[in-house]
Amino acid sequence: MSQEHRLLSRLVWSPLVSTFGRRRALRGKEAAAAVDMKPSPMAVFCPEDPSEISIVLESARAAKAPMICLGTGSRITPDLRVRLPKQGYAIIDLKGLSGIDELNSDSLWISVLAGTPMKTVVAAARKHDLRLAGTEAEEGTVGGWLSASAGIDDCILGVHQSPILSIEAVLATGNLVHSVSAPRAATGPDPFSLLLGTWGGFGIITRATLKLEPLPERKLIAGFSFSSLSKAIDFIKVIVTRFLPPRRATLFIDGQSSKRKARVVVAYEGQQQINRAGQKFAFSQAEIFSGQPAEHGKARQWLTSDPFKDRKFFSSGIAWSKLAGFLRAVDAQLGGFDKAVIDHPGLTGCLLRVAPGNSETTPRHEDWDNLVDPDNSLRNALDSSRSWLIRVRSQLDPDGLINPHAWPPPWPGGEC
Ligand SMILES: Cc1cc2nc3c(=O)[nH]c(=O)nc-3n(C[C@H](O)[C@H](O)[C@H](O)COP(=O)(O)OP(=O)(O)OC[C@H]3O[C@@H](n4cnc5c(N)ncnc54)[C@H](O)[C@@H]3O)c2cc1C
Repeated sequence: MSQEHRLLSRLVWSPLVSTFGRRRALRGKEAAAAVDMKPSPMAVFCPEDPSEISIVLESARAAKAPMICLGTGSRITPDLRVRLPKQGYAIIDLKGLSGIDELNSDSLWISVLAGTPMKTVVAAARKHDLRLAGTEAEEGTVGGWLSASAGIDDCILGVHQSPILSIEAVLATGNLVHSVSAPRAATGPDPFSLLLGTWGGFGIITRATLKLEPLPERKLIAGFSFSSLSKAIDFIKVIVTRFLPPRRATLFIDGQSSKRKARVVVAYEGQQQINRAGQKFAFSQAEIFSGQPAEHGKARQWLTSDPFKDRKFFSSGIAWSKLAGFLRAVDAQLGGFDKAVIDHPGLTGCLLRVAPGNSETTPRHEDWDNLVDPDNSLRNALDSSRSWLIRVRSQLDPDGLINPHAWPPPWPGGEC
């Protein structure tokens, strides 16, 4: 019997079934039919309480069985599916661990169980004229979203912020732990941030208190076309770093280097008067940088279209000061591009996504990395933080049983 099959042995299985009952502890064909995963799981557990997750993880540890945690599975993409343990695994399906504990509309927070659908949270907040702070995510579950997203954009400060006020999780050891809502100065380093954006590699999130913000009184969207790429870049830089920053600012670049066109959409949200002032500033700056205003409906269309549909693209964060030179280097050294998008602007830089084009040979991931990071300094920093995380994970989970498909995590950057 393989190590993993010990999870299905009577010794391990009986206590699990007596905790969960046959309806919530499935195995064999029932388990395979319950979730759409290949290879199929050997067992599926559907906890309704965090303490039940502790029991499964303790049993999994004893049986040395890999456990995969599942929200709605929207992020278990084909590249993660190929990492599912071939020798067998079990699923912890979190959909039953769902519900809103409390919403405080004065202090702007909502406390929810991790399997709660994002749509339920968004709808509950909307009833109080509130929304989740810093995100428009409505797909999947709260736990899945937190596991895949380490932060939310703060357009005022131009930096990433934590999406949570507090969090509860079951660690790979089976221990249930919770953070406290207290200022960082009072608590020191925050080990709970290990649970955010690490795809479930350190434990299973069971509950979280999420930040809320008021629904904006008004949303204003404006679009501008530019015939010069460098002017469009200067425009977006000015718009996000001076005066009132927009909630979103996106620069779309289309075409080959000789006849490239650029479009910028800015979206202001919040109090009506402030929005108007922001938009007025955007129009005055567009005039300075020779941008042509687009019809209102068009700008909205630009924002909702997916520029990379069915296309391969590379992505990296990049400093404003390096952006124009970097795009020139993509043309000169990677065979050019015919589509690029610049968004998530902050005070120091932005996120750049580029779809290679106009080249006989498609550039490889390493070519892009070498261009972004010619002296390896970024890769060295990433490697050292990864090796630190690997050490922490190996202490919590020496056999690498929790979410092995997600380790090392598919962190953003590089080829998509
Ligand atoms: C159409 C669409 C639009 C989207 N728009 C946005 C957006 O605007 N902003 C944004 O931020 N996101 C956005 N997303 C991302 C979306 O919010 C996440 O994909 C989603 O929340 C993942 O939830 P899930 O339940 O499907 O996670 P799953 O796919 O089930 O899991 C994702 C990963 O987390 C692990 N995991 C799941 N639950 C837990 C848990 N409780 N504890 C520990 N690990 C866990 C899984 O093992 C897996 O590794 C969008 C997604 C889609 C499909």
